[in-house]
Amino acid sequence: MDIVKGNMGWIEVVVGPMFSGKSEELIRRLRRAEIGRQRVQIFKPAIDQRYTKNGIVSHSGLEIASELVKSGSDILEKVAPRTEVVGIDEAQFLGESVVDACTKLADLGKRMIVAGLDTDFMGRPFEPMPRLLAVAEEITKLLAICMRCGNPAVHTQRLVASEELIVVGAGGMYEARCRRCFEPQLAHQIAEEEKEHAAAAKTRAASS
Ligand code: ADP
Ligand code: ZN
Repeated sequence: MDIVKGNMGWIEVVVGPMFSGKSEELIRRLRRAEIGRQRVQIFKPAIDQRYTKNGIVSHSGLEIASELVKSGSDILEKVAPRTEVVGIDEAQFLGESVVDACTKLADLGKRMIVAGLDTDFMGRPFEPMPRLLAVAEEITKLLAICMRCGNPAVHTQRLVASEELIVVGAGGMYEARCRRCFEPQLAHQIAEEEKEHAAAAKTRAASS
């Protein structure tokens, strides 16, 4: 955002697949706000405690302190009146209320910087991010590098059997894939194969 007069707030959103650098970019913007002596508050979903409880950590090891929240309503309660900049990571885990919270806080004059996955492990839009993109002033879409072929990657490939929408994890469970190498049905196929193996093992055990 370039020229903003008065104390107008706005919403900027950083999206892309896992490993595309969303957390790095969020941390970079928040650090600059801190260097500019602005009052910053940073939030992440309580569900995402992969690395540390009290900080946002990028896959490359950058870190910034944050508070844990369960929903957008929690953020509304926790933001102090004097806060000027609010950062949110992994916003796709905070539910629909995050859109309402961002809108209300931006209306109050705060700069909202929100990062999250725009698509899920099947390549489908990951609510509430699409709705947040619709009300944002500024959108940055980042790409990762495809782990198969090295092309720009727009997708998050799940490598394990679960078909739940939310399976939090990084090392070995997900990788970035380009649109050519993305296999949306892979998690489903692995689940089916595991079921078949389990059934075959049961039959063997019964006949021995
Ligand atoms: P995001 O928040 O989008 O998951 P991060 O900011 O946590 O991304 O991590 C980005 C960093 O991940 C990159 O700077 C790089 O060091 C590392 N990385 C690991 N795998 C990949 C990949 N396939 N493509 C790009 N970066 C990757
Ligand atoms: Zn590829």
